[in-house]
Amino acid sequence: MSGFDPKHQFQPESLMMSYGYKPSLSEGSLKPPLFLTSTFVFKTAEEGKRFFEIAYGKAEAAPGEELGLIYSRLNNPDLEILEERLALWDGAEMSAVFESGMAAISTCMLEFLRPGDVLLHSAPVYGGTHHFIHHVLNQYGIEVVEFFADQDAEEVCQIAAQKGVLERVKVVYIETPANPTNALLNLTEFANLAKRLNAISIVDNTYMGPMWQKPLKHGIDLVLYSATKYLGGHSDLIAGSVSGNATLMARVKAMRTFLGNMASPHTGWMLMRSLETLKVRTDRQALNAKKVADFLADHPLVEKVHYLGHLNPGDVGYETYREQCSCGGAMVSFDIVRGEKAAFRFLNALKLMHLAVSLGGTESLAQHPATMTHCDIPEDEQARMSISPKLIRISIGVEDPDDLIADICQAFDEV
Ligand SMILES: *Cc1c(COP(=O)(O)O)cnc(C)c1O
Repeated sequence: MSGFDPKHQFQPESLMMSYGYKPSLSEGSLKPPLFLTSTFVFKTAEEGKRFFEIAYGKAEAAPGEELGLIYSRLNNPDLEILEERLALWDGAEMSAVFESGMAAISTCMLEFLRPGDVLLHSAPVYGGTHHFIHHVLNQYGIEVVEFFADQDAEEVCQIAAQKGVLERVKVVYIETPANPTNALLNLTEFANLAKRLNAISIVDNTYMGPMWQKPLKHGIDLVLYSATKYLGGHSDLIAGSVSGNATLMARVKAMRTFLGNMASPHTGWMLMRSLETLKVRTDRQALNAKKVADFLADHPLVEKVHYLGHLNPGDVGYETYREQCSCGGAMVSFDIVRGEKAAFRFLNALKLMHLAVSLGGTESLAQHPATMTHCDIPEDEQARMSISPKLIRISIGVEDPDDLIADICQAFDEV
């Protein structure tokens, strides 16, 4: 029998049921109670003074001194425990939870960009992010330079140089794999580009989640999520999160305090429950996705399958995939023969899968990016990103994989 290795590190999935929570502070309750309170009672006036000094940055916390509970816009036990657990998944020093993925994204942008600054971002990005960048940030004097997911960091640097904005780039923002086509951007290269420009690199890692891709390990500064998707995982809540080093996260958290867009204690409590099963849920989703993708690849009504697990040596993106993704994920897209008409027939015929946007939940969802999630993008740009009327996107759930395949099979029969 081998002895216990004192240096043994528990995996996040082993710690999600207990980490960051002390039962003795809550009457011995095994699980963290739901702290539905707006404010917290100070033991003494001196204690209240000290908490505020630290919260407002007037004094540094002493080693080992934790910020006391003040008011639920600043801190609440359900959010604090959840944030410690979220940080484990990404190997981050600190995390912050928000009331939505868009709140996480907009708060980071507002904190790290000022009038006159330049934001470099990959395309496609999530529709709400695209709208915020091009219709809100631009009203505050922030210049935007967009590049395509298939351009590498060197090309992007040249694009910015040609526009004469290189010195003013303050944030490099990417989404990889790109939704809905699974095009990959190399995390290390874009992290290095941002370092060279003295800018902050931010990755929206919603599509892979922290189970399958860990951007901070590749030198990225901040990783953010729509926690509505895999982290929540049951399509029953809206939330977001950001993780990174303590210095940057202190700025993100301060901005959150004053925008007031933290998650509610109830959402925090729900997310803690979700995180306990994150690994088992998504392991199953990834297995199911591989089976569905293999089936699609062999079907005569399918022209092309966009699934990371099908990349082979020599394919575009293969090296990047091997470097930064631990599996093919659970998002599968495919081009159906003919076009929109065939795609709609297929979508309308599904019996088990639901026709809905969003992703990452326990149930499988199918949708039509060209006319739904990505309808805002002009047709020529859609074409440049391989978003055609033939494209169908499926988020794979935890169902029996043979049932999913049977459903897809009968829907093809209707086409
Ligand atoms: C859903 C989503 C968002 C937005 O998150 P909300 O929780 O809906 O605000 C951002 N990025 C990606 C990639 C998403 O899928």
